[in-house]
Amino acid sequence: MASKAKNPAKFKKGKKLCRKCGVYKPFTSEFFHVQNRRECGLHSNCKSCTNAYSAKYRSKFTLEVLVAYSRSTVPSCICCGESDASFLCIDHINGGGTQEIKKFNGLYYLLLHLKNSGYPKGYQVLCHNCNNSKSTGEKCVHKRESLFKFLFSNEYKKRKSSRKPNLSTVIIGRTDVKMCSGCLEVKPATFEYFTKQKNGLYGLKSDCKSCYSEYRHQYVKETRYKALVHFSLTDAPECLCCGESELEFLCIDHIEGGGKQHRKEMGGGNHQISSVNGFLKMIKDPDKDKYQILCWNCNFSKHKNGECSHKQKN
Ligand SMILES: [Zn+2]
Ligand SMILES: [Zn+2]
Ligand SMILES: [Zn+2]
Ligand SMILES: [Zn+2]
Ligand SMILES: [Zn+2]
Ligand SMILES: [Zn+2]
Repeated sequence: MASKAKNPAKFKKGKKLCRKCGVYKPFTSEFFHVQNRRECGLHSNCKSCTNAYSAKYRSKFTLEVLVAYSRSTVPSCICCGESDASFLCIDHINGGGTQEIKKFNGLYYLLLHLKNSGYPKGYQVLCHNCNNSKSTGEKCVHKRESLFKFLFSNEYKKRKSSRKPNLSTVIIGRTDVKMCSGCLEVKPATFEYFTKQKNGLYGLKSDCKSCYSEYRHQYVKETRYKALVHFSLTDAPECLCCGESELEFLCIDHIEGGGKQHRKEMGGGNHQISSVNGFLKMIKDPDKDKYQILCWNCNFSKHKNGECSHKQKN
């Protein structure tokens, strides 16, 4: 290892020197970003060095925006007080954040726009737990009842056991009305009260419209809860990293990553597997060890930094 080279050769055996880390790497676009204005066509620093630099730059910039929207110099979640910056995000107070991020071609450019327009009103700092919970309800679960609460009520258990799915009751001598199998009320057999269903009695669903929409909503929540319990190592689901147990804050994490592609296949949105089919498929997956329960905060931090911020501190 002769260290006489103050100006080491740019190229060596088909490899190119990264000016940042000093390592010779293959002279291909797999290892260096393309940069047309350069003579050799590739960036002077290797991909991992440029990526690390821009990640660092972006997280420093995000912190600047978080500070600007916080009421103190140390940014914190306005709802729960969480102050670890790696769990925080900028929330649109009145919703519509996803569309706005799309409009600006990414979160970074939206934040840049906010800075350049003098930090307009309408935004606040929340942690990812509070933010996700707020987007499913109108407020975070810290300020309202949990959307999962009904699952544990006696009323729900009783109603569920007495439910006779797909059984509409004929009212003898009447074809213009039928009994809803949910609320057991006799209602007009019309599209105003029941949704169309080909093989149902009178071509209608067995549940009246309002029972069906409530039932559907509860079914989605119950399936989600079942999946959380299924992948849980304890009786009550909790975040494997920080122990958070509020159900609205929990998600199913892909231990080895690849969650985005998987969510696509499962028909879920960008941030969570939200479809019932997605959850049912996961529960049936024989490779149960692929998944673990995390809260949104730990999940976000893990995927952004390779490891949750809780672990980096230890
Ligand atoms: Zn490098
Ligand atoms: Zn919070
Ligand atoms: Zn909250
Ligand atoms: Zn009904
Ligand atoms: Zn957690
Ligand atoms: Zn954590």
